[in-house]
Amino acid sequence: MLAGAMLPALNIVAQTPSASEWGGPVVDCHHHLRRDPESNVAHLDGAGMSNAMVLARENSADAMKELEAKYPGRFLGWFASADITKPTAEELITKAVKQGAIGIGELKSHVEAAGPELKRMYALAAELNVPVLVHFQEVPHTPTEGTFSTGWKNFEAVLKANPRTKFIGHADAFWANVSADYANESAYPSGPIKPGGITDKLLSDYANLFGDLAANSGDNALARDPGFTPGFLKRHEDKLIFGSDCSCTDGKGGGISQAGNPGASRLAGKCVARETLKLLKANASPAAFKKFTWENAHRVYKLKA
Ligand SMILES: [Zn+2]
Ligand SMILES: [Zn+2]
Repeated sequence: MLAGAMLPALNIVAQTPSASEWGGPVVDCHHHLRRDPESNVAHLDGAGMSNAMVLARENSADAMKELEAKYPGRFLGWFASADITKPTAEELITKAVKQGAIGIGELKSHVEAAGPELKRMYALAAELNVPVLVHFQEVPHTPTEGTFSTGWKNFEAVLKANPRTKFIGHADAFWANVSADYANESAYPSGPIKPGGITDKLLSDYANLFGDLAANSGDNALARDPGFTPGFLKRHEDKLIFGSDCSCTDGKGGGISQAGNPGASRLAGKCVARETLKLLKANASPAAFKKFTWENAHRVYKLKA
């Protein structure tokens, strides 16, 4: 009886973002919606993360409402994606933003980064005053996968032409280009980074460009050259936003982490969230860690709470 009477109070405690094993609240800003509400929270809890910002679909408003009602305070917002090769994309994304989405993305289609489909989305993001998160990938992970938002090396013209658009860079080509010698030779280059990479330069030069630290691509860029990482994180401490893009089930590497992506086998059996949080802890000051895992996202994405 006594235990039953105490349950509601315990639930409230468990759902309040608080100091975690990472020394404070952590919001995973690259959390894709999972098959049921419980699976979403299982990943957060298992990796010691207090909150998530969800990368969902244009029709996810109801699912997000259900999630937010079931786990009050854990989900701080959502982005809406759509098939941007369809003429209805603009209308569907506009509707999602009116229903509460706080950003557009992630956008991952077989198009050019400066092509008409994405250009429409960059303009829409400025018009709706929400950020847009794009997956840039020049090297297919499998023979049939194809490429996404190609042409990152020439993206400066887009940044210049869209000063009111907040761009969030993500994925293989964005992160491989922290090194000046990257020539699309592999999805996840390893070894020493040659200073002066286009991504490093654009993050420094353009106030409207931010970086999403998620996925094997982000983790790999921070892990491959220990001499590079602290300086890079320091240079861009107000521009980088932590996320996991992890597909493990339990926040500890269980399930099918990195399935279907042999190039990312370095993280097989591991939780991407945990691995990247460890790298950020080891290579940045506590104040910068807080920016990556909490403050930058609150400012740039205008998260709840
Ligand atoms: Zn992606
Ligand atoms: Zn995980």
